[in-house]
Amino acid sequence: MGLSADTVTACIALGANQGDRLAQLRMSYEALNQHPAIKITAASPVYASEAHTGEENDTAPDYLNAVVKARTALPPEKLLRVCQQIEQAAGRDREAAADRRWAPRPLDLDILTYARQQIDTQALTVPHPRLGERRFVLQPWSDIAPNLYVPLPFDTTVQELLQQCSDAAALRRTPHALDSTSSAPT
Ligand code: AMP
Repeated sequence: MGLSADTVTACIALGANQGDRLAQLRMSYEALNQHPAIKITAASPVYASEAHTGEENDTAPDYLNAVVKARTALPPEKLLRVCQQIEQAAGRDREAAADRRWAPRPLDLDILTYARQQIDTQALTVPHPRLGERRFVLQPWSDIAPNLYVPLPFDTTVQELLQQCSDAAALRRTPHALDSTSSAPT
């Protein structure tokens, strides 16, 4: 089904560090793309990243991360709701993890940008406030949208943000694609 003419570009970061991480990322890709008001136009390769734990001696399973770029006819709050429903379908218990920012999660979907809008409501901050600190977001995002403009407070492109990023945590590109029907990059 085609989208209505009234659509915007939104970018979404996908992350998982619990359970069958690749299956969960692929499930979220499919779920987003099958939504009648969302069409994914670009999907990054899948990366593996060291989990940020907040404590030097804590360990946590590696994350798998990716970023998708989409056209959507949904307003931002509805897009967030769809992302949260997909997280819940992957078994994420938002209540249990509410006060544990570093808790393992089967699936985490973050809206990075929504058109060129700046949004600051109780439910939603866009551009995502921590995107500039995260190489595991900026690297895959830069693979698919290096010249995309990221509005204030960033006010620069994805590629520039990646060049400025000081995140030193290990990051490795995997041979996996989000779309399980496409051939894996070599
Ligand atoms: P997290 O535990 O990192 O998934 O954070 C989820 C909470 O962040 C939810 O309560 C969302 O309403 C809120 N939130 C604020 N801004 C965003 C955003 N840009 N993308 C996703 N969730 C957001």
